[in-house]
Amino acid sequence: MSDGSSLPRQDAHGETEVFALIAGAGFAGLGMAIALEKAGIREYVVLEKADSVGGTWRENTYPGCACDVPSHLYSYSFAPNPNWSSTYSTQPEIRRYTEECVARFGIGPRIRFGRTVSGATFDEATGTWLVTTEQGDRYRARIFVPALGPLHRFTFPAIPGLETFRGKIMHSAAWQEGYDGSGERIATIGTGASAIQFIPALAKKAARMHVFQRTPAWVLPRIEHDYHPVEHAAFEKVPGARFLYRQGLYWTHEFRALAFTYHPKLLAAVEKLAVMHLERGVKDPAKRRALRPDYRMGCKRILMSNTYYPALGQENVDLVRGGVREIRPNGIVGEDGVLREVDTIVFGTGFDVHDYLGRLSIRGRDGADLADRWRESAEAYLGTTVNGFPNLYFLVGPNTGLGHNSMIFMIESQVAHVMKHVARLREGGARTIEVKAAVVDDYNRDLQEQLRGTVWDSGCSSWYLDTNGRNATLWPGFTFVFRRRAARFDEREFEIREGAPVAAPTRVRA
Ligand code: NAP
Repeated sequence: MSDGSSLPRQDAHGETEVFALIAGAGFAGLGMAIALEKAGIREYVVLEKADSVGGTWRENTYPGCACDVPSHLYSYSFAPNPNWSSTYSTQPEIRRYTEECVARFGIGPRIRFGRTVSGATFDEATGTWLVTTEQGDRYRARIFVPALGPLHRFTFPAIPGLETFRGKIMHSAAWQEGYDGSGERIATIGTGASAIQFIPALAKKAARMHVFQRTPAWVLPRIEHDYHPVEHAAFEKVPGARFLYRQGLYWTHEFRALAFTYHPKLLAAVEKLAVMHLERGVKDPAKRRALRPDYRMGCKRILMSNTYYPALGQENVDLVRGGVREIRPNGIVGEDGVLREVDTIVFGTGFDVHDYLGRLSIRGRDGADLADRWRESAEAYLGTTVNGFPNLYFLVGPNTGLGHNSMIFMIESQVAHVMKHVARLREGGARTIEVKAAVVDDYNRDLQEQLRGTVWDSGCSSWYLDTNGRNATLWPGFTFVFRRRAARFDEREFEIREGAPVAAPTRVRA
């Protein structure tokens, strides 16, 4: 593995030439770097805005933060960890795993921390990308791989009076280190995947807590246990044990796609299980009524918790139905018009998922601006390539999200696809590869067609849909189908320009 030798160096023009420039050091960016490293390609750099790796698992540090996909599935297939402590690992353990992968595959020397990619411009004359950072770096790369993740720009809703609040304000994705709500009066807003994890943790310590719920979630029990040393030993030493376990997890999760996509009515049976879970966890009939969703399960992300309902049943916890009317200097007013005085407001109100690019400007062939192209709604081929933007490869791009299985599976599928392009560019003599417009159009037409009639299209409002009601986030179906498609590199789908890149790049302004 890499020893840090042959690290990319700046040329006389202050530009660093690399083969691949990867933006983001979460699971996707690291997975891409490891694939290059394994292929013996060392001319790459990973730029990371923060000071450590882990992506969403570095940023989300709220108490109770964990993954609701089992860790033996939510981990790289090529980097098994027989020592996961329990079925669903907590954030610190997952973050540690990403750090261990960096060490294990020797990619550390090529990660630059505190570097925020601000612009990327395709230079047609040379067939390269000029990538710049907010810190003033300039990289020239044959391929540019934004691996930014959709869940990193958190949002505070525009609630009147928010700026007047005199207490503490916190967001699940920007947690004040060590804050656990001890002895405080707290209001929480939102009851999504993040909130149902921090609500039970805060409820243990808060003096009083008001949970503002606009829309109840479907919540299923979490079947989990701490792994016994015998299981750890089996995962480590018994040939095939860990692999078979992972396969079992994969196929039980994959089975859900059948209900989500093809037969939403199958979810009615699972709804009954969720109602039983609710009735077991919450005794108060009024609270039970308030917590029962009135939309089809799966339309919003299905949540899993054994602690959420019992927390809502605690004496010190009050469930407030409806949205928030306003925030005042000393508290928060719900739709019922009642002011609840609080010391802290905790937002579990999610992320801006549809603005894929944020402040990052990407300019392709003929100066095409990707932000303009995606203004209405984002779309790509296999969530990865975009017409007009040669040698650009998004990871976890449009319509690659999942409601039913592990994102790591999708990431590995995309990385495998990119590696086919890499081979064509490096050994196959191609200078640029650009997906054809008709391929992107056909692919997305089919995809939107498939999304029609799925559970996500059953009438609820969710972050899966953009402001036009178009689903630009989810892959609608089996993940093995995505993998099979991504494994194929059909040259007829791409405009391929042959020839080596121009050795001495023409300088362009980023
Ligand atoms: P989210 O699912 O978007 O939930 C946001 C919550 O805030 C919803 O309950 C929403 O209510 C509420 N909300 C938003 N604006 C509001 C307003 N103005 N007034 C009152 N309520 C408001 O966000 P999230 O919980 O952070 O989760 C985002 C995604 O992160 C998840 O879907 C999942 O993909 C990922 N995640 C995963 C895990 C995991 O275990 N793997 C854990 C945490 C997060 P409405 O429903 O009424 O809009």
